[in-house]
Amino acid sequence: MYDKLIYEISKKDRIGYSLPNDDVGHFDINESLTRTISFDMPEVTELDVVRHFTRLSQKNYGVDQGFYPLGSCTMKYNPKIDEEIASNPAFTKIHPLQNATSVQGALEIYYETSRLLSELTGMQEFTFNPFAGAHGELAGLMIMKQYHMNRGDDKRTKVIVPNSAHGTNPASSSVCGFDVVEVGSTAKGTVDLEALKQVLNDEIAGIMLTNPNTMGIFERDICEIAKLMHDNGSLLYYDGANLNAILGMARPADMGFDIMHINLHKTFSTPHGGGGPGSGPVGVVGKLVDLLPNPRVIKKGNKFDFFHSKASIGAISGFWGNFLVVVKAYCYILSLGKENIANVAKLAVLNANYVKESLKDTYKLPITGLCKHEVVFDGLIHGQATTLEVAKRLLDYGYHPPTIYFPLLFHQSMMIEPTENESKETIDDFIETMKIIAQEALKSPELLHNAPHNTLVRRLDEVKAARTPILKYKDLLK
Ligand SMILES: *Cc1c(COP(=O)(O)O)cnc(C)c1O
Repeated sequence: MYDKLIYEISKKDRIGYSLPNDDVGHFDINESLTRTISFDMPEVTELDVVRHFTRLSQKNYGVDQGFYPLGSCTMKYNPKIDEEIASNPAFTKIHPLQNATSVQGALEIYYETSRLLSELTGMQEFTFNPFAGAHGELAGLMIMKQYHMNRGDDKRTKVIVPNSAHGTNPASSSVCGFDVVEVGSTAKGTVDLEALKQVLNDEIAGIMLTNPNTMGIFERDICEIAKLMHDNGSLLYYDGANLNAILGMARPADMGFDIMHINLHKTFSTPHGGGGPGSGPVGVVGKLVDLLPNPRVIKKGNKFDFFHSKASIGAISGFWGNFLVVVKAYCYILSLGKENIANVAKLAVLNANYVKESLKDTYKLPITGLCKHEVVFDGLIHGQATTLEVAKRLLDYGYHPPTIYFPLLFHQSMMIEPTENESKETIDDFIETMKIIAQEALKSPELLHNAPHNTLVRRLDEVKAARTPILKYKDLLK
């Protein structure tokens, strides 16, 4: 059915509210401030408006509707109770300009959450000032740069990034003024140690890694990599956007990392995507603490206060980051507790391996053996369909597709992250659907070539959508 757009059902002078007669009087607005062109908004009833927005919401897909196995950046578990707690007016009504004595409770949450993250990662201290993962990367790299400058070591202008890294890693390095040196991966998907040794010299400021890496593979040589880097006078940066793979089981600082960020809006109970509020706390080892961005929250006796370090890289954001995201992370960690937090990693890894083993006879598995929280397939073993077509066909069955054509190491990459919180039944249904699609690819491949068939919007011209996006109703009429 074709839904009429809200402008199409608009009728002149129709309204969706009623107000009592004005008994306040009239106020003349300076003419220079008044609108000269007509205010072209749809004129509709209350019901029309509610139905319009409800319909729009139903056209979207989200974790509250179904399985969302997007690899690498997926949403982990976002308990509703944490949203409820964070929406308490005691938190939402705090003003960022309030002084420290009037917001002791909020500062305590900052402080306690930073202690918890330190415990979980081995880092000495954290800042919550960055608003996103990439923002955290930039702050972390600025710390790296400052560390070398403070030692008078100003030749270090390069950062090593493996070719399997998330795109934000080379981007942040560039934004921070570093040249990016790429190192390749072995056939097993891990950093190529020999290639790494080749690029080491006194111009290398550091390396950005994530472990397990973006292919879901644990870098077993991490201690050797850390020694190589440190012996070279370089630092190690850990991209901890998706910390669920090792939460409560292993700590980046113990692996030799010096600086890291975490995406609270992935791993710690805040939904991400659509540009919603994020938080990319940055943690550092002891020797870098003074360089953390200003201000920090410190504890003096049993009082909390803001603190400005003279050696700091400076402020990297207005105010103190996204406080409510920190509240949710705090609730999440406390509700799991020391006893349960490691189950996040165990279940994330179990679920990914379950998908891997269940589908490895149907989809090509380029890297065998244990994976961590996600698994990469390289397209169908049999059947005339590409990874894109499998992904489009999944939409027909009501699933969000996995990440496709990333990592670039394989031509038909399909990266699946089931996450820790999905039930066995949900994962079994997904596996079954993936097998049905593989069968279709053999018997009636045209079903896949033209998919999706059941969605509101059919196959999109992705290039056109990116080059000439239709962002306004009126553009649609052109
Ligand atoms: C999501 C993600 C980032 C970037 O986080 P943003 O909040 O989107 O800036 C960085 N690295 C990895 C591995 C990620 O998954």
